[in-house]
Amino acid sequence: MSSTDQNPDRLYSAREPIFPRRVSGKFRSLKWWLLAICLGLYYLLPWVRWDRGPNLPDQAVLLDLANRRFFFFWIEIWPHEFYFVAGLLIMAGLGLFLFTSALGRVWCGYFCPQTVWTDLFILTERWIEGDRNKRVKLWNAKWDFRKVRLRMTKWTLWLAISIATGGAWVFYFADAPTLFWNLITLQAHPVAYSTILVLTLTTLILGGFMREQVCIYMCPWPRIQAAMMDEDTITIGYREWRGEPRGKHRKAEGAELLGDCIDCNACVNVCPMGIDIRDGQQLACITCGLCIDACDEVMDKIGKPRGLVDYMALSDEARERAGAAPKSIWKHVFRIRTVLYTTLWTAVGVGLIVALFVRAEIDMTVSPVRNPIFVTLSDGSIRNAYEVRVRNMHANDRWFEISVTPNDVFQLEVEGGQNGMVQVPADATKLVRVYVIAPPNSAPAQSQSSEMRLWLHDIEGDERSYNDTVFNGKAAR
Ligand code: SF4
Ligand code: SF4
Repeated sequence: MSSTDQNPDRLYSAREPIFPRRVSGKFRSLKWWLLAICLGLYYLLPWVRWDRGPNLPDQAVLLDLANRRFFFFWIEIWPHEFYFVAGLLIMAGLGLFLFTSALGRVWCGYFCPQTVWTDLFILTERWIEGDRNKRVKLWNAKWDFRKVRLRMTKWTLWLAISIATGGAWVFYFADAPTLFWNLITLQAHPVAYSTILVLTLTTLILGGFMREQVCIYMCPWPRIQAAMMDEDTITIGYREWRGEPRGKHRKAEGAELLGDCIDCNACVNVCPMGIDIRDGQQLACITCGLCIDACDEVMDKIGKPRGLVDYMALSDEARERAGAAPKSIWKHVFRIRTVLYTTLWTAVGVGLIVALFVRAEIDMTVSPVRNPIFVTLSDGSIRNAYEVRVRNMHANDRWFEISVTPNDVFQLEVEGGQNGMVQVPADATKLVRVYVIAPPNSAPAQSQSSEMRLWLHDIEGDERSYNDTVFNGKAAR
């Protein structure tokens, strides 16, 4: 009996510890595979090398915050290309909408880091302390040497996993081998140590001790997902019309009136959320499928067909109750909502791929200098100054020519440059001051402002880029 049952005035109920039992079956195997792939990718990706030439980092995936770059294998994203990141986030959101409306909380059950790490922590716990019954016994046992030894071993392993998790995260932000060496020789930046500490503690607390409470109380996603699901969404349910009335005593009188559920609680005992799927759809259910494996095992043993607990759509309930076959899974999955999400997802994806292939490798931004707006030279000419930032996204140093149009009116000089030429190092930007001069009696010199265009020409690659701006004449005073 929970504390709220004992005292209905209390709003808080103390957590009942959950000891999920080991189970085997197709969904458990799928989850092991996905766990291995997700953790393998997370821990190993920063160590994958990718040769980009002498001037660029050779880490395949790197968030280079110091130089404001994101490297992903052959793709390099610059700060001004943040729309790629925004596009990827939109795709991730749409993908989540799509999978949730088609297959329910498949993200929560199979891919969410909270699920993956909790699974790893439970696996470790089971390895050290034994399966469900042994763990329950240990939980209820008095503290003695054995209990302390088992607990300390488990917590030490959990801590090691947490440190590895926090440690792997920082490797995405710097050259992994260098940072690893700096970390173990205590030469790394304090930010690296504090990030590892925070992530170690959050991993340990969320994955080791809080587990299902994160999903039930902290995560907003279960509430949002409910809005994306409908009666055609494939989710996990109990065929109550087949299982009820439930009963254990199959040999007792009247047993022939019982349903297929033998009330063995196997589905409850394997559930990492500690819930009973026979009570119907619940916010706490992460649709991990383990209760399906547990129940199928039981059905095999008692010689009944599998699928008493199964993936199903609510819209099939009436059909199945009437003894008809459920609709095919594809009819549930392909509906207006999922087709719309797929179309939007594909459109954003194609747009990003096209943008990636047509993006310019050179670029410039132009900021007119406002103080002063213009300068009158000794011969009466009017001169405006501009701060021009030239961006060279190539892997080698490049010479660029900066010019102006209309060039029959304006003259251009680059401060420190040679004939309007400027050299920009590989994969870098360079800020140069550019002067544009209009002769004394020319229209731009006399008028308030005149439109003009600054050009950037990559001499080696023959690429061009331009930026429109204005020239302020005497009337702008
Ligand atoms: S009820 Fe079944 S699917 Fe839902 S969380 Fe529990 S074991 Fe997983
Ligand atoms: S595992 Fe199947 S048979 Fe056992 S209690 Fe759950 S639904 Fe009933």
